[in-house]
This record gives sequence, C-alpha cells and structure tokens, in this order.
Amino acid sequence: MQNKKITKLLIGTNNKGKLKEIRNLLPKNIKTLSTSSFNLKSPSENGKTFKENSLIKSKFFSKKTNLICLADDSGLEVDILDKRPGIYSARWGGKNSDFQKAIQKVYSEIYKKDKNWKNKKIKARFICALSISLLDKKITCVEGRTEGTISHKPKGKNGFGYDPIFIPNKKKKTFGEMKPLLKYKLDHRYKAFKKIKKFF
Ligand code: IMP
Repeated sequence: MQNKKITKLLIGTNNKGKLKEIRNLLPKNIKTLSTSSFNLKSPSENGKTFKENSLIKSKFFSKKTNLICLADDSGLEVDILDKRPGIYSARWGGKNSDFQKAIQKVYSEIYKKDKNWKNKKIKARFICALSISLLDKKITCVEGRTEGTISHKPKGKNGFGYDPIFIPNKKKKTFGEMKPLLKYKLDHRYKAFKKIKKFF
C-alpha cells in the first residue's frame, strides 16, 4: 500500500485521446509525464483481461523509467458479439488504429449475428481498468464500467475510438456527440478513476 500521496506520475499510454482524458482527471498539482517524452514503444498486451493488460503496461513503463506509472486498458464489449471486441478493441482498428475500420467491423459483425438488429437494443459497455505500479510492484488495480447501446449509425466528431457509436444509458446522444466535459463525467475511465483518487 502506498501511504504517501503521489505527486509525479508517468501516464503509460501512447494513445493521445486517452492521455488527454487521463490528464483531465488528475488533480492539477500532479506533475505528469507521458511515454512519448521517453520514446517508449508499448509492450505487447498478452493478458486475458483488461486488468491484466493494464498491469502489464504500468509495470513495463515503470520499469523502463523508474517512475510510478498509471496505465489503463479499456475497450468496448458488445453483448450480441459475445463481448467482442473487448480487450481487442484497439486491434480491430488494424495497424494504423483506423477507428472507422473498427467501427465498420462492429457493424458488420452485428449484422452477421442479426440482420434485424436495428429494430433491437444492442447492449454494450465500455470498460476501463486502471492500475498504478512502481517497477514490478502493483500499487492498485481497479475497473470502471459504463453501460449503453450501439447507435444505428456513427454520430458526432468528438472523442475518439468507438465514441460515435456508443449511447450511454439514459442519454440520447452518442459519446461522439457529447461535449468532452459531459462525456468525462459519464465514462468508464472516470468511474475507475474515482476508485483510485485517494492516491493523489
Ligand atoms: P487499449 O486500452 O490501448 O488497448 O485501447 C483500447 C481501445 O478501446 C481504444 O483504442 C479505443 O478503440 C477503445 N476505447 C477505449 N476507451 C474508449 C473511449 O472512451 N471511447 C471510445 N473508444 C474507447
């Protein structure tokens, strides 16, 4: 257990969208560094769960830099697709992280399962595991979830990844149509972050 508050932190992601969201969640007095300033490639994510992959990243980046590292692993689960893309969410975008391609794949896979899907509610959720590690030692590892449905077509240009096709429960707009500040308050990363706030 880490007793002292963390004041300097490496954010273990090479994804600019996630880096921005995580920075916005952290108290402003924390000095954050990003993996890009160290020119570090990401490790291969060969865990079986979001939590395992998050720990692989936070330990890997901490060992490379000797800094306390916060890393996340996140993705979209679609129930009708047996929870795919899940931990493969980034990989559905191919080598160039082409999110349009990933989104089209979600639609074509749903269509393969049910040609009449647009008349149904396609349940989905975003999941985020956040972990903090120092070298090979886990300080904490938690998970946050946001439940919702898949929109009939992509809508909105805000955010990143699958944001244009995800409508959180009790809302009419996709994450892609929402102002970033509204999305942050509803999303899986924020919910996971609330569970580790005490470390900052
Ligand atoms: P990873 O955690 O780096 O493996 O990547 C997770 C992938 O899940 C991202 O590249 C996005 O495709 C997707 N994802 C995770 N969080 C979000 C989000 O808040 N909005 C949209 N897509 C997300």
